Amino acid sequence: MATERYDYVMVGNSTAAIAAIESLRRHDAEGTTAVISGEPYPAYCTPLISYLLAGKVTEKQINYRPADFYARLRVAPRLGHAVVQLRPVEKEVMLDDGSFVAYGRLLLACGGTPVVPNLPGTHLRGVFTFTRYADACKIRGYLNEAQVREATVIGGGMIGVKAAEALADLGLRATIVELQDRILAQALDEQGSAMARRALEKAGIRVLTSRGASALEGQEGRVKAVRLDTGALLPAQMVIIAIGVVPNAGLASAAGIAVNRGVLVDDHMRTSDPDIFAAGDVAEGYDALLGETRPVAIWPSAYLQGQVAGANMAGAEVAYDGSVAMNSIQICGLPTISVGLTAPAAAEEVLEYQSPDGQNYRRIFLRDGRIIGAIFVGEIDRAGIITGLIRDRINVSEFKEKLIGRELGLLALPKEYRRHKVMGPGIEV
Ligand SMILES: Cc1cc2nc3c(=O)[nH]c(=O)nc-3n(C[C@H](O)[C@H](O)[C@H](O)COP(=O)(O)OP(=O)(O)OC[C@H]3O[C@@H](n4cnc5c(N)ncnc54)[C@H](O)[C@@H]3O)c2cc1C
Repeated sequence: MATERYDYVMVGNSTAAIAAIESLRRHDAEGTTAVISGEPYPAYCTPLISYLLAGKVTEKQINYRPADFYARLRVAPRLGHAVVQLRPVEKEVMLDDGSFVAYGRLLLACGGTPVVPNLPGTHLRGVFTFTRYADACKIRGYLNEAQVREATVIGGGMIGVKAAEALADLGLRATIVELQDRILAQALDEQGSAMARRALEKAGIRVLTSRGASALEGQEGRVKAVRLDTGALLPAQMVIIAIGVVPNAGLASAAGIAVNRGVLVDDHMRTSDPDIFAAGDVAEGYDALLGETRPVAIWPSAYLQGQVAGANMAGAEVAYDGSVAMNSIQICGLPTISVGLTAPAAAEEVLEYQSPDGQNYRRIFLRDGRIIGAIFVGEIDRAGIITGLIRDRINVSEFKEKLIGRELGLLALPKEYRRHKVMGPGIEV
């Protein structure tokens, strides 16, 4: 089999890879480019798979880009074949059909894999993970063939909550089992999490916190119940495991590329091999707010990192100002946004706003006069302003009281900042 050769090869065909392709093309209109994915479909919007499962959107509506995307950007799609080996010395990758694709520069945008705990019964029929389009299809298929009335989601993070919401939308009695004392603990603090919990419970979803699953019990090969660590038995004819995602860093580590939890990258999204880049859930970059490297498995980071990687692959010099993770998630109609560090022990000051009706909540964390994180629940329309202030590391000491009240708007910001960041230089607002 002859080896195909491209100037640029993307491994993965989702948020990070698509952003990289678009960015690459702005800097290099001609370089030959291929995108390889283990999945056989054109790129789709991963966060929408829960809406697909619930029947709220169609398969067409979850497409991430129009059908002519690959042709228009002159990208060869090699879909339905996973990369099984990376050979940095030969500058080629091997696919699962035994073919090779050679690259000038490579992007690893291969995301993460859901963690499956080592519990008895995870092999049973009716037990799923939920991170891919195919998972939504398999779950829908199972619902058509099996008698499912009660479903348990193990894990109360972003994916677990969205899965439970979809199951409740389908009329199932859904329960979330979460080991920590609150759901969405990575994104929200106690108060925000309590509001999210109320929204779920209002939608008929039962939330059990400080509870773990110790076994999945079955009958005739199908799951029938979840045994909790308290000994209690929770009837469940379907179980979705959503306890986290680990970066797909195996290809890189087997090839001798520096890996921690994710594939380590510098601020240009370059790995320890100068011709190999990584972006999105697979990557682990430096977080200036935390002062350490960490993988950040959320959509906006994947997109921004992909953009930076694509530009640098094409020879531009673009640095990722990746310190600010912004996570936006709607929970049963309740909008939430968290930005930066959302439970920072290191915060010196915390500003808080709670609307009298209890529907809106906002919390801003400050250190050295600068915002290091914020949580918005309910009213989220001003989150962009706060994010800008974090990104630009603006000292807010002089006007911090205006940040938390209802009047937060552009006019609350110092004139200099408005002029440069909001309207552009030379325009007064
Ligand atoms: C149900 C759900 C809800 C979510 N909701 C939100 C949300 O509300 N907000 C938010 O910010 N984030 C959300 N996320 C997370 C968000 O979707 C991810 O952070 C984002 O998709 C990461 O993009 P990525 O391109 O890095 O990787 P992925 O989207 O994981 O894509 C990886 C790609 O690589 C391919 N691949 C993997 N291994 C190989 C291989 N060996 N060879 C070839 N191809 C390979 C895969 O098939 C896929 O195309 C959600 C995720 C899920 C599952």
